[in-house]
Amino acid sequence: MATHHTKMLIIGSGPAGYSAAIYGARAMLEPIVVQGLQPGGQLTITTDVENYPGFKDVVQGPWLMEQMQAQAEHVGTRMMWDTIVDVDIAGGSPFRAIGDSGDEYIGDTLVIATGAQAKWLGVPGEQELGGKGVSACATCDGFFYRGKKVVVIGGGNTAVEEALYLTNHSDDVTLIHRRDELRSEKILQERLFASDKITPLWNKTVDRFVAGENGALDHLELVDTVTGEKSTIAADGAFVAIGHAPATELFKDKLPMDDGGYLLVEAGTPKTEIPGVFACGDVMDHTYRQAVTAAGTGCMAALDAEKFLATLDFAKEEAAPEMTAAE
Ligand code: NDP
Repeated sequence: MATHHTKMLIIGSGPAGYSAAIYGARAMLEPIVVQGLQPGGQLTITTDVENYPGFKDVVQGPWLMEQMQAQAEHVGTRMMWDTIVDVDIAGGSPFRAIGDSGDEYIGDTLVIATGAQAKWLGVPGEQELGGKGVSACATCDGFFYRGKKVVVIGGGNTAVEEALYLTNHSDDVTLIHRRDELRSEKILQERLFASDKITPLWNKTVDRFVAGENGALDHLELVDTVTGEKSTIAADGAFVAIGHAPATELFKDKLPMDDGGYLLVEAGTPKTEIPGVFACGDVMDHTYRQAVTAAGTGCMAALDAEKFLATLDFAKEEAAPEMTAAE
């Protein structure tokens, strides 16, 4: 068990964490990134990325994150394969975090970039059939349903992208949405409606996931949100794509959050209410939640961390007694 001290401790390794690290390292803050359970974050479970600036051609999410990590390391970031399990931040800088490994991390500043995770419906059968037909990641598991009947639940960008992705594997994809209008971007909607492999099923919520005799998913029980009528739909695979929840469990009762659990920051900045603690990326942004906006707020966190350290140094100098030569 070791203690690691840094001017800038970053928890989380998505676009926000890596961007903070790149800027922090270039400002000589010798950052440490504690990468967490899913190094690279949500983009590592995505395939095609065509909206991250800088690439004319489509790039792959995992590749993009490898590049960001390599860039952060190249400029002097230390990467730690560890997961933070507890933080002590109430007393102000320096901040203390404990890793799953037992290692202790001390940061003069703390950048929280823990991101968000997929949400579940919380209906019967969902957890029990996880890995046996129910999944929250088509790009991870879609391959297993080659030539089979699959459904996607949700009406946002994720759901539509997952449905489109699944047409690579299946000719029978149903998108189940609780309203009769999608909230996803128009360009994605156009692609969805143009596909003869995808059938939208409007105004339906899932009541339960039901297993067949083999113990794997057999069908879903649905309820019509307008008429209340019940129905079923057969499916070999069901992909839940209803949004994400921020990974803020570590900061419960330690930092203010909104009703959805997102960390609150000073408007237009990544500053939390504790000076020296910054939040960036999906953990504080439920509106935009894009890789590029996460990277932008990561950069802002690093710049503000640098300023905070400068004021800290200045305060120390101010507080130091005047030194005179011995008589
Ligand atoms: P969203 O919050 O945008 O959409 C969630 C969808 O799930 C909504 O259609 C919502 O319905 C539905 N839903 C939520 N809860 C339930 C429930 N309990 N039962 C049934 N349906 C439910 O989440 P996404 O993950 O799609 O997107 C999150 C953010 O990430 C967005 O800002 C999105 O633009 C972005 N994103 C961008 C991508 C890109 O640019 N390529 C790719 C993927 C995501 P309702 O509409 O009725 O509220």
